[in-house]
Amino acid sequence: MRAEAIIDLSAIKHNVAQLKAKSGTQLLAVVKADAYGHGLIPVAQAAISAGADMVGVALLEEAIALREAGITAPILAWLVQPGSDFKSAIDLDIDLAAASLKALREITEASSQKKARVHLELDTGMSRGGFLSEWSQLTASDLSGVDVVGVFSHFARADEPEEAQNQDQLDRFNEMVKVLEGFGHTNIIRHISNSAATLKNSDAALDMVRTGIAIYGLTPDVGMGSAKEFGLRPAMQLRSSLYLVKDVPAGTPVGYGASESTTRDTKLGVVTMGYADGIPRIARGAGVWINGERAPIIGRVSMDQFVVDLGPDSKAQSGDWVVIFGNGSHGEYTAEDWGAACGSINYEIVTRIGPRVPRIYSAHVY
Ligand SMILES: *Cc1c(COP(=O)(O)O)cnc(C)c1O
Repeated sequence: MRAEAIIDLSAIKHNVAQLKAKSGTQLLAVVKADAYGHGLIPVAQAAISAGADMVGVALLEEAIALREAGITAPILAWLVQPGSDFKSAIDLDIDLAAASLKALREITEASSQKKARVHLELDTGMSRGGFLSEWSQLTASDLSGVDVVGVFSHFARADEPEEAQNQDQLDRFNEMVKVLEGFGHTNIIRHISNSAATLKNSDAALDMVRTGIAIYGLTPDVGMGSAKEFGLRPAMQLRSSLYLVKDVPAGTPVGYGASESTTRDTKLGVVTMGYADGIPRIARGAGVWINGERAPIIGRVSMDQFVVDLGPDSKAQSGDWVVIFGNGSHGEYTAEDWGAACGSINYEIVTRIGPRVPRIYSAHVY
């Protein structure tokens, strides 16, 4: 095997159950972007079996894929483009977010036979999706052609729990929801918490939380606390194998641009994954774990391969497995380490793993 991502669905189930208990409310498991690289369908099934009340995705095609796979749980899709096939979404019982009067009109038009289930999205301070100035123009009749089942917003800085913007956004949300209550929509699901808010801001749990990164056992931000401190179990181990091991003298340049050279006589290992598989080309300071030791990347990552410095005494051989990242419990690099190694975050590391890498569902095997 060249490379594989081993996904531990029991970890996902554990995390869902843990987060649901912590929030004390309903839980929507966020499975957009192929379940953050972990595999849409198996993750959705695992999350639902562990008590997720809903699953959420960005795109309509992701929601349709869930229905086509036989998932009957409620699904919310929140980034559905104007001009989409809203009629099919309604027929498939996919809840739709509406973030503008235009969207609401389009969804209403598609609701002639069966009313769409709609969650109104509010911009409470992130300046991304959601109603902002248009909210004051909304009338009860704008909502009469759809079934308003929810209202939601999104935090910009939930991973910095002490920031005042969090309370500002929650206050604004509660204020804006009053408009709906004024129209008689009192029994709807209010939701604003992502993973970080679910872990750190119980006041914001409301009627449902939307947890993404945490169900994969990853922390929303290392500054907030580690996955372990939150009782979360990382669900993915990414591994590859050594294509070659070779002895080189000190001063040997490695890779494109000869951006680095060996500083001692050493052994180099060639790992058969590259940026085409989602290994960030600019990563520096991460590497692989083999035979109980870390071997750092040396030189630039290529499209299909990268080179690690195994050290002069390494016993590694071509064909050996290397762990690129895992839960860190044995000393291996983590998705957080890889994020830090390229100026990014664990979210990007797991979601960018490419389609060439098979996802294997089993418990972790070290
Ligand atoms: C991605 C997303 C989430 C999940 O965020 P996490 O930080 O991964 O928990 C929740 N809500 C919306 C609207 C999102 O787009």
